[in-house]
Amino acid sequence: MIRPQRSDEFGCDSCRDDQNRWYGHLDQLGSNEDGLILLRCPRCSSLYENTAGGWDATRRLTKDEAHGRFPDAAWPPLLLLDVDGVLMPVGRSLPPGFVRHRTDEYDVVIAESHGEWLRALVPLFDLVWATTWGTKAGEIFGRLLDLPEAEAVPLTALAKSGTRELPDVARFVGDRPFAWVDDELYEDAFEWASARGVPSLLVRTDAGVGLREREVDLLRVFGEQVASR
Ligand SMILES: [Mg+2]
Repeated sequence: MIRPQRSDEFGCDSCRDDQNRWYGHLDQLGSNEDGLILLRCPRCSSLYENTAGGWDATRRLTKDEAHGRFPDAAWPPLLLLDVDGVLMPVGRSLPPGFVRHRTDEYDVVIAESHGEWLRALVPLFDLVWATTWGTKAGEIFGRLLDLPEAEAVPLTALAKSGTRELPDVARFVGDRPFAWVDDELYEDAFEWASARGVPSLLVRTDAGVGLREREVDLLRVFGEQVASR
């Protein structure tokens, strides 16, 4: 429940225990014929519905519930994120800023700056994992980098040539604006994206160095452009 205490001290249930400055800053994405409004936390992307004038009816929604109840909401673009070659560089040497981290199952490499950069994009994007790590991406990299919970694109039909994840990504994003960050994006993906007719941004990273700040700048500008449409 979203409950007013002080003007800066209410907001997202999910963030409630953090002394964060986002309290009270739930973005309104839309409304529906029942007089309800859809709210989204810009810090953790949790979704809520509420009556337009108050907080009594506040209820947390799953993504599916929210899409079903607010079909015309102004959803932020998706941010599809690969892991290998993006968050975890590929190669023997460790680029500056990365540290090795051992989990119960895997030895991974992460950069704290990635967490900072990606958290700053959460107000503008719905994060989605697009990687063969599947749901493990969130359990491992999402948790280490303090990113919000995110879906993973189900990978069911990896292409044998070109951009392997393109068929699954195309099906997943439908007609929604999106940015896709991956080290293995090829001509087929760029051609498909440019023909979609809705805002689409592909960012191909250098697998040896992973995601860089200038690429995050591109994402932020794209997200701001979509938001201001
Ligand atoms: Mg990759």
